[in-house]
Amino acid sequence: MINSADVLVMGAGPAALCITAELVQQGLNVQAIASKSPLEPWPNTYGIWASELESLNMQELLKYRWKDTVSFFGDGLNKKGNNCTNHYLDYGLFNSINFQEALLERCNGLAWQVETVKNIEFGEKETVVMCTSGKKYSARLVIDASGHKTPFIRRPKHDQIAKQAAYGVVGKFTSAPVEKNRFVLMDFRPDHLNAKQLSEPPSFLYAMDLGDGSYFVEETSLACAPPVSFESLKARLNSRLSSKGIQIEEIIHEEHCLFPMNLPLPYRDQPLLAFGGSASMVHPASGYLVGSLLRRAPSLAKEIAKVIKKDQRISTSQIARKGWKTLWNTELVQRHRLYQFGLQRLLSFDESLLRSFFDTFFKLPKEDWYGYLTNTLPLPRLFIVMLKLFSIAPLKVRLGMIGFRLKNK
Ligand SMILES: Cc1cc2nc3c(=O)[nH]c(=O)nc-3n(C[C@H](O)[C@H](O)[C@H](O)COP(=O)(O)OP(=O)(O)OC[C@H]3O[C@@H](n4cnc5c(N)ncnc54)[C@H](O)[C@@H]3O)c2cc1C
Repeated sequence: MINSADVLVMGAGPAALCITAELVQQGLNVQAIASKSPLEPWPNTYGIWASELESLNMQELLKYRWKDTVSFFGDGLNKKGNNCTNHYLDYGLFNSINFQEALLERCNGLAWQVETVKNIEFGEKETVVMCTSGKKYSARLVIDASGHKTPFIRRPKHDQIAKQAAYGVVGKFTSAPVEKNRFVLMDFRPDHLNAKQLSEPPSFLYAMDLGDGSYFVEETSLACAPPVSFESLKARLNSRLSSKGIQIEEIIHEEHCLFPMNLPLPYRDQPLLAFGGSASMVHPASGYLVGSLLRRAPSLAKEIAKVIKKDQRISTSQIARKGWKTLWNTELVQRHRLYQFGLQRLLSFDESLLRSFFDTFFKLPKEDWYGYLTNTLPLPRLFIVMLKLFSIAPLKVRLGMIGFRLKNK
């Protein structure tokens, strides 16, 4: 058995690095374990609204930043049907290497054990983590930051897990798929789809100009159960491009994205704490997580340090319970329920209803839709924004929001 730590963190993704950095900063004795070294580059490209990082004074971690940020919610059949919505808000992509390095620097040289956790045993005063190598590690508290697929976190069963799925290409194209210096959050124009594709679950284009003649284009299904297949998304992306006479010349990187949007919240009385995808922290309306990790890690680490330092006799499950209470306090749980309710409604929307919904959503004042998408609105305000959205929505969207379906067209 390796010496016991105050806290052991499992994982080396954004969630693990965020929480480990804050725990180390609190002066705790931290152990970290992950199947892959934290020095290995993350496989995903992470995007975020630049003001989320500005409010944390971390905007220098962005590699790309766009001022021209737009979406398209029209039918695209003529100029008017393009319905270009300007977001008037900067969006950015992280420089993942710098982001990883900045978080690791805050871990003060902590060395990760490259191990895969196979089993976890809970005692009164410590938790023992068993790895596939046969090694065991113990700590007063274990935090599972090993992503949404973790088998160790208990949560209610859900028979309809909706997943966000996306297929994307960073590459060179025969002509520009996006205007110069532009970021497109959602291009829902469906005029390249045939009748069969129109009746299938909707998808949109997420795209950006990366400079130097390269672009990132990604066909995305917001949330669907069962998820839209990568083959189907790839076919849709190709038909979207070819309808504009655009071919892919060179693929620099391919991205396959699949993660749950409505994973139920974990039970908050379990002795294992979670953080990140494992803790259902992905925003149910947008699929974003990173801003929330950066905002919520400091207060969680502070609470854990307070509890651990205050009383050496406090049990593992009591520490975990205090952690759960901070991570998912009543306000955040209620907000999460509202988001889940909203997502559940959207799951039944067809292509034209979804376009109409988002067109209305982005007509809300910027502070409202930004606050909704970043989960930064206090509960009463969130509730008011949802009511406001309902009140300004066209009748067919309103009916959809309350669960009625009109026969289309
Ligand atoms: C392709 C893609 C693109 C995304 N884009 C964005 C975006 O632009 N913006 C945004 O905010 N969110 C985005 N997300 C959503 C979310 O931010 C990511 O899923 C994020 O990676 C989740 O972070 P995490 O640290 O919780 O889990 P992960 O990143 O999945 O990390 C899990 C870690 O745990 C380790 N691990 C797993 N099992 C074990 C084990 N048994 N023992 C030890 N270690 C283990 C893994 O090696 C890994 O280090 C995206 C997701 C995907 C899939």
